[in-house]
Amino acid sequence: MLQDETSRVTKTAEVIIVGGGVIGLSIARELAHRGVSDIVLVDKGQPGKEASWAAGGILAPQVEADSADDFFKLATASRDLYPSFAQALHDETGIDVELDQRGTLYLGFNEDDEVELRKRFAWQQRAGLRVEWLNSEDARRLEPNISPEVRCALRFPDDWQIENRKLVQALIAANERLGVRLLPNCEVISLRVERNRVAGVEAASGTISAAVVIVCAGAWTSSLTISPASARIEIEPVRGQMLCFKPNTQLAQHVIYSSRGYLVPRRDGRLLAGSTSERVGFDRRVTEEGVNSIRSMASEIAPALKAARLIDSWAGFRPRAIDDLPVIGPDVEVGGLFYATGHYRNGILLTPITAKLLADCVMAGLNSALLASFSPHRLCAVTANP
Ligand SMILES: Cc1cc2nc3c(=O)[nH]c(=O)nc-3n(C[C@H](O)[C@H](O)[C@H](O)COP(=O)(O)OP(=O)(O)OC[C@H]3O[C@@H](n4cnc5c(N)ncnc54)[C@H](O)[C@@H]3O)c2cc1C
Repeated sequence: MLQDETSRVTKTAEVIIVGGGVIGLSIARELAHRGVSDIVLVDKGQPGKEASWAAGGILAPQVEADSADDFFKLATASRDLYPSFAQALHDETGIDVELDQRGTLYLGFNEDDEVELRKRFAWQQRAGLRVEWLNSEDARRLEPNISPEVRCALRFPDDWQIENRKLVQALIAANERLGVRLLPNCEVISLRVERNRVAGVEAASGTISAAVVIVCAGAWTSSLTISPASARIEIEPVRGQMLCFKPNTQLAQHVIYSSRGYLVPRRDGRLLAGSTSERVGFDRRVTEEGVNSIRSMASEIAPALKAARLIDSWAGFRPRAIDDLPVIGPDVEVGGLFYATGHYRNGILLTPITAKLLADCVMAGLNSALLASFSPHRLCAVTANP
């Protein structure tokens, strides 16, 4: 069971993790596996109920990539960890995170799409990645409910999906078994720094002291102050709305993209459709405009969705840094302070690699070459606390 902290108290821990989405939870689990025995993970609400709950669970580095840049390398390395990560979580908790390895389709509807898809197909083939070109008949053979307007498609056999809400549940259960102290409803207000080293956090419920603090606060990262004032990582929320249908028959087997959005079929017969990308602060409303645009995208892919029952909708906040890239590694100035945030549109995909590489930084001071482009150092022109 999660512990509830209400009274103001002073505690100590070896490591404090601020934020219990997939990123904080997976880092806590990884550190516990590596022998850190006294980990406290604090969340201002219930762990795993923000972006990690709202997501689509798509693990698809290839589908939108136009080159093998550093982000692509990080993302494919993470995807490739998923089969063993999912199996380990199953062994530890009995929870199946529903890793689905059927592959992902990207549909082209017009000439512009076809040009785009041909380019993507060509570079990925040259790079030795698995990708297949499908004409309209091939595509409809795989997915009979897609629109007759589909002109061509790519199939990415190595781009997959998981049920991210099961992932959250499995990570919470794994941490509980490993003895990580999970503190819900406990908002961290500021990070305490003494002589250029982190000393702990000030939370609404009291002070927690620790020599290592890892900030995994997602879209809320910038609201944490550092006392005394120091460089701060700027992360903004980008709202994404999602719709959930329950069609009478299964309308899709694969994750299916178009240039306007995507469909994600779940094992239990639900079909998710997403998403929007909106800079509206922390306004978590689902809007009529958002619903209409996702509905129109979804029925462009599979016209039968026009008649399907909409059973749920929600919105979540993607954590975005100014250059769209994740922020993973030690703080520039403050010893013992680490960041794993800014995972933007790919935090579920990047979960296993983030946990592994951040744990390497914390335990052994090892900064993998894979992280070179994602260090907090690159955001050094950050503002001090106002
Ligand atoms: C609609 C949508 C669809 C998406 N689809 C995909 C997808 O298909 N594939 C993919 O890879 N990614 C997807 N993403 C992105 C992915 O969800 C995020 O990148 C990922 O969940 C980020 O994880 P996180 O742990 O950093 O953040 P979160 O899950 O948001 O967790 C941060 C946690 O920190 C806590 N917190 C914040 N501030 C404080 C504080 N001061 N004190 C204590 N706790 C605090 C919050 O309560 C929260 O629980 C999607 C996102 C959205 C919104």
